[in-house]
Amino acid sequence: GGGIEFKDVCFSYDPRQPAVKNLTFSIKPGTTVALCGPSGGGKSTVFRLLFRFYDIQSGSICIDGQDIRTVRQQSLRAHIGVVPQDTVLFNSTVMYNIRYGKPSATDEEVIAAAKAAEIHERVLAFPDGYNTKVGERGLRLSGGEKQRIAIARTILKSPSLVLLDEATSALDNTTERLVQDSLTALANSRTTLVIAHRLSTIVDADSILVLKDGAVVEQGTHDELIEKE
Ligand code: ADP
Ligand code: ADP
Repeated sequence: GGGIEFKDVCFSYDPRQPAVKNLTFSIKPGTTVALCGPSGGGKSTVFRLLFRFYDIQSGSICIDGQDIRTVRQQSLRAHIGVVPQDTVLFNSTVMYNIRYGKPSATDEEVIAAAKAAEIHERVLAFPDGYNTKVGERGLRLSGGEKQRIAIARTILKSPSLVLLDEATSALDNTTERLVQDSLTALANSRTTLVIAHRLSTIVDADSILVLKDGAVVEQGTHDELIEKE
């Protein structure tokens, strides 16, 4: 699941300046798509509209063929996993922070999700296991590790659609690469993964969608876009 269809979507924060204009595109279910383009192009707005942070002013947005305005907000959000660029963790244990994705999860499920997200052995093997609070007694986490916790949380939730915001990420290249690796756990055949990123050079995307001034300026595979250049 997790197929997306935007049809003539218009939305503006400020009526004098539309953030997206007649935005039309579709994303096939189960694919990984890189949402690229310059800052201000509309990437974050697309995420906010999908999550119904804001409602569109005209057009339609469908997920798996269903108009999102006809779905209860709670049920819509249950099917969408969001990995923000700056993950804010609870002042609690790693275990608690991951379990937040699915409160009914067993310890084994939480540990499996942590491993799938490639959370460092350093964190997993921390004395007292997962029971030390984040930031306590030397359990200090880097930006990449925090993001892996957000990914583990999302894996546990098993949503049909995952939105990953790397648009203005301050992560260094190595960390970014590590986060990319841990994403392969999410990019299974059932999950649609949309990654907002500054660059179209990101690896392993089935297709690339370039947004500029709130409209699609290019869409295609990595090879197709290179041929055009
Ligand atoms: P991107 O994520 O590609 O950088 P955005 O979706 O954040 O692009 O921005 C699209 C347009 O909407 C820009 O012109 C931006 O300034 C504007 N915008 C984004 N967020 C807000 C907001 N909260 N209030 C007003 N304008 C906004
Ligand atoms: P992001 O879009 O990833 O949140 P931005 O740098 O675009 O990062 O925006 C940072 C914050 O400022 C966000 O909360 C966004 O909603 C808000 N913002 C962005 N553009 C504008 C704008 N033109 N007017 C008011 N707020 C904005």
